[in-house]
Amino acid sequence: MEIPMRKITHLVVHCTASPASATKEGILNYWRETRGWNVAGYHVLIEASGLCHRLVPNEHPSNGVRGHNAHSLHVSYIGGIDAKGKPKDTRTPQQKRELLRILRAWKQAHPKAVIVGHRDFPNVQKACPSFDARKEYAHL
Ligand SMILES: [Zn+2]
Repeated sequence: MEIPMRKITHLVVHCTASPASATKEGILNYWRETRGWNVAGYHVLIEASGLCHRLVPNEHPSNGVRGHNAHSLHVSYIGGIDAKGKPKDTRTPQQKRELLRILRAWKQAHPKAVIVGHRDFPNVQKACPSFDARKEYAHL
């Protein structure tokens, strides 16, 4: 049976705030073991190589922003910090390309949804995704 699509109001961009070399397995493990999450943090995770991992179907919520998941889709690139752990836009050209591709498709499917970064939500103390997603994707 087909699952009906949810109403989507926000398309949210994240970084993993981990070294660019972090693996999907390591990130999933961290969510499970350290955070105790049964549901992944994002719908799609993008490696430095541009390889995209589908973690949660868009029909289901993922764990991207507490209190804002019911009506959001979340995409994240692996990286987002420098060698000292400070926020830094570490997106590779491949990650930039895939982010654009995914956000374009999501915006097409949900034209009224707004594209924002995790940090654009109120009371978020993070730099995630380490660049101004609202500005960069305003043209979509
Ligand atoms: Zn985030």
